[in-house]
Amino acid sequence: MLIFTKIADLQQHLDQIRAQNKTIGFVPTMGALHEGHLSLIKASKQACDHTVCSIFVNPTQFNDASDLEKYPRMPEKDTKLLQHADCDALFMPLVEEMYAKNEKTADFNFGELDKILEGKSRPGHFKGVAQVVKRFFEIIQPDRAFFGGKDYQQVLIVKALVKQMNSGIEIITCPILRDPDGLAMSSRNTLLNEEERISAGAMAQIMQKVKPIIKTADVETAKEFVSAEIMKIPHTTLDYFEICDADTLKILTDKSTADKTVALIAVFVGKIRLIDNFIVN
Ligand code: AMP
Repeated sequence: MLIFTKIADLQQHLDQIRAQNKTIGFVPTMGALHEGHLSLIKASKQACDHTVCSIFVNPTQFNDASDLEKYPRMPEKDTKLLQHADCDALFMPLVEEMYAKNEKTADFNFGELDKILEGKSRPGHFKGVAQVVKRFFEIIQPDRAFFGGKDYQQVLIVKALVKQMNSGIEIITCPILRDPDGLAMSSRNTLLNEEERISAGAMAQIMQKVKPIIKTADVETAKEFVSAEIMKIPHTTLDYFEICDADTLKILTDKSTADKTVALIAVFVGKIRLIDNFIVN
């Protein structure tokens, strides 16, 4: 696996790949890699000739300085995992390489999409995500980019971004990988202590239990169930649980008003904020 920290070196390498008429797949990550990330690498390797993974903890998508500071970083372990997964190239730039000094977060217009759910709880988060993804897309110019369905709203933002960029990059959404107790894998899980990890698993099980309720009862009943059950779990506070139109993320009060719906949750377990979702139909 080739490792790059400089944009110019990576681009020179990718020019050679393109000259051989090879397709390029791109997997952006913030590191502290787990099986979920590696499933994206696998999907890219299956669909493309050459896979580039980036590891970059993007400061502009953190609205909370302490969250950015405590975000797990383990570049040596990540490098080994990517080598083992047969990833072709790793791009690990410093912040100074990605952004000009005093560069402001670019402005994007995503309508309501970046103001609800994660956007409401983490103001400015999706503008930061769009800024870094746009920068990566311009540098790497992949044929396809692979994102996890765990970050459901992020995928919709990236698809909207690609449209705004008039870009032909194909956005592929990959399934959520879970631990045996149902908890969606996340780099943030490493920050949970033993008790909090058990609580996080209990949250994932509530998401399983609410599935049949959503199918048979109304939205309010499902929301009340989740809210009451989350309150019973130690160390855990509900940020939101919503049932939304799966295409627009419009929050629904009557699920029959959308063809396809998605249920999304965000909880604090201790100080760690976790998200999850499932497609209802
Ligand atoms: P992150 O490093 O958290 O920014 O995640 C990088 C990419 O991996 C994003 O597209 C995430 O949606 C994806 N991802 C994170 N966790 C999982 C998971 N449990 N299953 C599948 N994809 C995931």
